[in-house]
Amino acid sequence: MRIVVLAGGIGGARFLRGLKRAAPDADITVIGNTGDDIHLFGLKVCPDLDTVMYTLGGGINEEQGWGRTDETFHLKEELAAYGVGPEWFGLGDRDFATHIVRTQMITAGFPLSAVTEALCDRWKPGVRLIPMTDDRVETHVAVTLPDSGADAGPGERKAVHFQEYWVRLRASVPAEAVVPVGAEQAKPAPGVLEAIAEADVILFPPSNPVVSIGTILAVPGIREAIADAGVPVVGLSPIVGDAPVRGMADKVLAAVGVESTAAAVAEHYGSGLLDGWLVDTVDADSVTRVKAAGILCRAVPLMMTDLDATAQMAREALTLAEEVREA
Ligand code: GDP
Ligand code: CA
Repeated sequence: MRIVVLAGGIGGARFLRGLKRAAPDADITVIGNTGDDIHLFGLKVCPDLDTVMYTLGGGINEEQGWGRTDETFHLKEELAAYGVGPEWFGLGDRDFATHIVRTQMITAGFPLSAVTEALCDRWKPGVRLIPMTDDRVETHVAVTLPDSGADAGPGERKAVHFQEYWVRLRASVPAEAVVPVGAEQAKPAPGVLEAIAEADVILFPPSNPVVSIGTILAVPGIREAIADAGVPVVGLSPIVGDAPVRGMADKVLAAVGVESTAAAVAEHYGSGLLDGWLVDTVDADSVTRVKAAGILCRAVPLMMTDLDATAQMAREALTLAEEVREA
């Protein structure tokens, strides 16, 4: 069975670990979000690709969900001693090596997809990990920063890099718009459209619908290829009990006019894209609404508390895909 999964960082990576357990013989291709990528200290950092790679390769900091296990921060401290920031982005010493290798290869002319493959030669994630595009896409968030001065006038409206919104500001101000800058001109990376065309099933893990999966779908050709693939497309809700399980997805959902409920996210994807949707048992009430939108729906436990629970979620998704096929 060939499975294609569109993935962000933590939600995508943890789900993939369960999927590998649930379908050990499957050929899994992961299309990773690169809208979160950022250049720091002259290095190209790809947080979502690395979270998938480290999680599946056994190098992730389990408690944190991102970054390396057994990490130290000497390099960051030395940079700070020179007054060189940003101090708000946590890059550890081990993690730095990944970004140095990546940047070196990109400078030498390799596309990001080839670089990612090379990095995965070390980590052996057990899936084929492809960035959504080799082109530069950067998600920006329009915000109005509160004016802190005594003569407080209207705040300053500006666009900040997604990482600045998420990590530095902790999504503390409303996201007025979310723009995947460069997406319109981007082309799917080699292998992306081929994997979609050859897939038996396509899964949307409980990743952020706006800044993870939404960004991947914004690369021209990807959304269309999925809609036209003619195979079941099944998603799992990242929203449980009307709130994100972790993180601040509600802030970016509000920016695109979508309420933070499992049903609203399904409607946002729409029946043109999605054939099946899993909601958590606490949201069982929303099954009728999702079905009314033309999407097959079931309520099952959706908390990735451990590998067994996550594998069970993956099994439920594959079972729903079978029902879609038979319907
Ligand atoms: P990021 O790039 O690291 O933010 O990760 P993703 O976009 O892949 O996933 C983030 C989403 O995962 C958040 O919106 C969370 O609500 C969701 N999430 C995290 N843990 C769980 C879980 O155990 N169950 C469900 N259903 N969603 C989860
Ligand atoms: Ca991310």
